[in-house]
Amino acid sequence: MTKKLKILSVDDSKSIHAYLQQCLEPITEKIEHVYNGVEAVERLKNDLDAFDLIILDWEMPLKDGPTTFKELKELGLKTPVMMLSSKSRPEDIMQMLEQGVAEYMMKPFTQDIVLDKISQVIN
Ligand SMILES: [Mg+2]
Repeated sequence: MTKKLKILSVDDSKSIHAYLQQCLEPITEKIEHVYNGVEAVERLKNDLDAFDLIILDWEMPLKDGPTTFKELKELGLKTPVMMLSSKSRPEDIMQMLEQGVAEYMMKPFTQDIVLDKISQVIN
């Protein structure tokens, strides 16, 4: 990856935001944080191309990751989305990949894993 990325992190966990920020520091121009799908849609709906990558948690209050992803696609989002979840059942992972998420990353993860996953999505 040559250019630094603008990333939106959507997660209800403050510790995940802090950890992602630390892991992604080498590759980010900026990282913004929102805490649920309602905030994510609000942030993106009039600014769909604002980010190079969206990291989207599955389980969140108000609006979960899969619902948020569906809404964003309906709005015309083209930005790659990496789903983040502690769900490890193959059918859960396949369901989201079939719906068009670019990558799926399980919690817990390491810096090496997240950087490797992102390099698969952004090249
Ligand atoms: Mg969560």
